[in-house]
Amino acid sequence: MQITQQMFESYLHCPLKCFRYRDGSPGQVPGYSEWQRQIQHEYEQLAWTRLCTSFAPNKTFWGNPAPADLQSHRYTLIGQYRISTADFEASLNAIQLIDLNVRGHHRETYAPLRFVVREKLSNADRLCLAFDALVLSSACGHVPHLGKIIHGQNQQVVTIRLDKLIAKVRHTISRIRQHDARNSPPPLILNRHCHECDFQLRCRAIGRGRDAHSIGRPARGGATGVGHASTAVSRGIDGKGSRATRQRARLCRCQRQHC
Ligand code: SF4
Repeated sequence: MQITQQMFESYLHCPLKCFRYRDGSPGQVPGYSEWQRQIQHEYEQLAWTRLCTSFAPNKTFWGNPAPADLQSHRYTLIGQYRISTADFEASLNAIQLIDLNVRGHHRETYAPLRFVVREKLSNADRLCLAFDALVLSSACGHVPHLGKIIHGQNQQVVTIRLDKLIAKVRHTISRIRQHDARNSPPPLILNRHCHECDFQLRCRAIGRGRDAHSIGRPARGGATGVGHASTAVSRGIDGKGSRATRQRARLCRCQRQHC
């Protein structure tokens, strides 16, 4: 299975969402998600334009340069660099040539850059940068130790050490592959990310259906497909009633936010 940037990022918010993307597009996307995507896209263009002013025009490139130019480090800054291998697929906001000092030896290497519109960075932002670095290593031959995130209105630049984050990324990837190998997507568990998720209409419908079905009855396990997911909604993965109550409350909150 080819793990895309979108699948990886989704898994950090909700494991099921990752597999929803694996299986196809969400169809009708809620307006809030579309609006968020739009402002992120505009921010990326703005950040790229501003970043380019710091470099000579012949040192920047938009898109994928010829492999020989990548190997020879012809460009210092490359925007919208796409990588597709048997295992991964990613479109990096940018990569920048940086000078690394490894045990007294200087070496130039490309490092990933991310543009994030939000003022406050999350752990997921840092892990996504590490995912970019891991995918970039398949094109450049070695794993970058550093990456940068440019974020917020003032386009603040944060340099991030990646070694520990990449170890976490590898662990997350192995969990995704385990689900895929078992052919068992994670259960549907409504969460705080649902209100900005592309799949919320589908999940809310499943949650509502199961909720109505289960009122006054003990939930039964062992169902498959939608039934399996719905069982998780009503019982929770630990099978305790308290989770069911929280799930119903979350479903009600989701519905209120979008009515
Ligand atoms: S709507 Fe919620 S439960 Fe469904 S995939 Fe999205 S985040 Fe996960």
